[in-house]
Amino acid sequence: MSQEPKSNEASSSALASTHFIRNIIEADLAAARHATRRWSGRPGPAAQQLAGPPDPAQIRTRFPPEPNGYLHFGHAKSICLNFGLAQDYGGRCHLRFDDTNPEKEEQEYVDSIVDSVRWLGFSWTEPASAESSDGECNLYFASNYFDWMVEFAEYLIASGHAYVDSHSAEEMRASRGTLTEAGTDSPFRERSVEESMDLFKRMQKGDFPDGAHVLRARIDMAAANINLRDPAIYRIRHASHHNTGDRWCVYPMYTYAHPIEDALENITHSICTLEFADQRPFYDWLLERLAEGGLLQRPLPQQIEFSRLNLTYIVLSKRKLIQLVEEKHVDGWDDPRLPTLVGARRRGYPAEGFRLFSERIGASRSESLIEYTQLEDTMREVLNESAERRVAVLDPLRLIIDNYPLDQREEAFAPNHPLKPELGKRAMPFGRELWIEREDFMVQPSKGYHRLYPGNMARLRYGYVVKCTGYDCDASGAVMAVHCDYLPDSKSGTSGADTYKVKGNLHWVAVAEAYLAEVRLYDRLFAVPSPGARREGDAEDLERDFRDDINPNSIRVIKAWLEPALKHARAEERFQFERHGYFVADRVDSQPGAPVFNRTVTLKDSWSAKPGRQR
Ligand code: ATP
Ligand code: MG
Repeated sequence: MSQEPKSNEASSSALASTHFIRNIIEADLAAARHATRRWSGRPGPAAQQLAGPPDPAQIRTRFPPEPNGYLHFGHAKSICLNFGLAQDYGGRCHLRFDDTNPEKEEQEYVDSIVDSVRWLGFSWTEPASAESSDGECNLYFASNYFDWMVEFAEYLIASGHAYVDSHSAEEMRASRGTLTEAGTDSPFRERSVEESMDLFKRMQKGDFPDGAHVLRARIDMAAANINLRDPAIYRIRHASHHNTGDRWCVYPMYTYAHPIEDALENITHSICTLEFADQRPFYDWLLERLAEGGLLQRPLPQQIEFSRLNLTYIVLSKRKLIQLVEEKHVDGWDDPRLPTLVGARRRGYPAEGFRLFSERIGASRSESLIEYTQLEDTMREVLNESAERRVAVLDPLRLIIDNYPLDQREEAFAPNHPLKPELGKRAMPFGRELWIEREDFMVQPSKGYHRLYPGNMARLRYGYVVKCTGYDCDASGAVMAVHCDYLPDSKSGTSGADTYKVKGNLHWVAVAEAYLAEVRLYDRLFAVPSPGARREGDAEDLERDFRDDINPNSIRVIKAWLEPALKHARAEERFQFERHGYFVADRVDSQPGAPVFNRTVTLKDSWSAKPGRQR
């Protein structure tokens, strides 16, 4: 398979970066490979659900989540890839719930997945709308295909390509062989077609307990690829299914179900992660047999594998995420520190940031571990463009302007976005007492410190130049307030503004009007790049657990003074708090007129700057 180097280069152009999957699609389109594909129109229980034949110039992709957990950043890559390719080539992408496993699947997950895909900016009815001329709506449930899957299985039995094996799971495992040794044939392999058919029908009727028999494909017990050594395709499972209830007591194996789902939906390019590469020969074998039998039309869907997204400082496995939630290391699936999409949304990561990130990392077949900062930088870039600026004092210290008239009120005007003058300015009340950041004052300045210290001048951003005249301490010597005088002719935006050359430029909010809000300062959930991985110097027998690498300081909740305009922020509105970073009004805990803010990301990568931390 051809391979393109992964493109990590930032590109703000509308042109998509190219990669090996695009090359395959473009070659297929050029050769009109899918132009003659037609669904045979066999009547079936789910006929009305199925996709019509694609336009010759169309591709069809799909995103097939199993509804057994919340989506994470890795899924975002897959969603952006599949939906993005369909969009770019004027095709369609199906959202298909791979819900063939009766256990563990819940409506809560289905709803959340639907929400997250929409939030990412995709919909399964695009580019034609839901009311598209062909009436197609590309939301599918694999469990709607059970009748066909059984019918196809019966065809495989009838044509000698499948048999019922009555060995136990253990016996089957023992006879499968190893990577270096061939497997051995089951004594049931030579069962007659009639006997296998009869047993399979009775399996469906519920005549046998779980595990009594299994339907297996008859391929080759000596195949070099273990997945071709007569894989199981149907098993008995007396369990209720969220969609089909108690109708079935046999359920298809994932490896059997998935290719059939793709074929029934006329998927042209079935894009999945690399761990399925070893399954591709079975995928092709199965669809070939069904096509030979006239049950499927050619050309058949093509499976293409790419390497999954791995990022430093997080874990992207449903099993681990479930552990973090169930053991209450975090506050639920949408905890802003979790790499779930519901978490990212609460954290304030823009959906556009995920789309851009996915575009930039492209798709390749080589395993890679991407620096978390690369994702953060993309989020910063999108937020820098889109977020309006506001002022917040996170660690307040009172500044008293002694020569400012007690009863004077005035306004300072701050641009909403320095790069977008069209967004205008807003008025910020200015007064005699202001909150400034504690770190913007030093009794004894260190070298190169240009902010306030006794005798020094600095500018109050959008306001006046002030000269520090002194400070008050409490009994312990802690600074309680700073005193200064202002220079009345130095106001920003007036002709005198340039008279004074000062190096320090401080942000502030007026004490009388400021809004006191809860602000959550989130940091990384894990303290090391590869949570749970062995590290240099570890003893031979040391087994690390990813939970031991949780960063104990991943959240700090503070009360901060915000400029009054922020009181009216709507849930999910995002801002840059000048000099601090990007923040979002929390979508869960904000009340009208009383928003709570979450820090999305700092302005610069502050993580690696801290002592003892590695990237
Ligand atoms: P996990 O491995 O986290 O348990 P999964 O693969 O079991 O996830 P599914 O619901 O089966 O979860 O995934 C739906 C789709 O998302 C699949 O096509 C899968 O290949 C893809 N996917 C899952 N994780 C990643 C990842 N880290 N990077 C890219 N694609 C992924
Ligand atoms: Mg899976």
